[in-house]
Amino acid sequence: MSGWLAVAGLGPGDAALLTPEVSEALSRATDIVGYGPYVARVSARPGLVLHPSDNRVELDRARHALELAAAGRRVVVVSSGDPGVFAMASALFEAVEVEPRFAALDISILPGITAMLAAAARLGAPLGHDFAAINLSDNLKPFALVERRVLAAAQAGFALAFYNPRSAARPHQFARVLDLLRGCCEPGRLIAFARAVTTPDESLQVVTLAEAVPEMADMRTVVLVGNADTRRVGRWIYTPRSAGGVR
Ligand code: SAH
Repeated sequence: MSGWLAVAGLGPGDAALLTPEVSEALSRATDIVGYGPYVARVSARPGLVLHPSDNRVELDRARHALELAAAGRRVVVVSSGDPGVFAMASALFEAVEVEPRFAALDISILPGITAMLAAAARLGAPLGHDFAAINLSDNLKPFALVERRVLAAAQAGFALAFYNPRSAARPHQFARVLDLLRGCCEPGRLIAFARAVTTPDESLQVVTLAEAVPEMADMRTVVLVGNADTRRVGRWIYTPRSAGGVR
């Protein structure tokens, strides 16, 4: 039997948000590859080999998965949320680029519900107009580039979704991002901290930019910043679909 490789998104946490397509791939797999906590979300069963690995070894992990598929295994590489959003799908193609023989393999990318969309749905519709998603981690890019992009996107009037907002290793950087926003957005701008969305640990907090403090975010939080029109209605926040005077 010939092997295949799927890079699959497990969604934000709740099993009900796993797509049937991903469930099917998991049920046909012989091997699951990924960051430990994500692999732990896949139910063990006889004949299924789990390959949990550390967070920072994406390229090794991708190469390992490709080798397994080349050897005839049915491999699912798991990401949280969507595999194409700050996750394993790009790492996989980087590995294919290094070793083009892998390009002949049966590879598929199976989408999942990304954190910002799950969070937005919980909060109302804060991403209902144009928005930009920015990874605040400086693992794979200089922090100066993070700052430039945050500022440009905020000045251009986008609502913003921040992934990896604040880790113990770089607590001051998110404070810097809040300062940048304060420099170009009004103090009443709405900002939502959505933590562990759709898991039992979920918490949602909506404050103004003036009230926001760095400690409201950690690595399980996705931060959504509204645009200038984002407002509260009842217990929700939403961004109107129109802007610039068009109705
Ligand atoms: N591929 C993932 C993102 C991986 S980066 C996706 O599409 O969602 C990891 C970051 O995603 C975290 O630091 C956090 O900002 C965000 N995240 C992932 N799951 C989340 C959840 N259930 N609730 C809130 N944020 C989440």
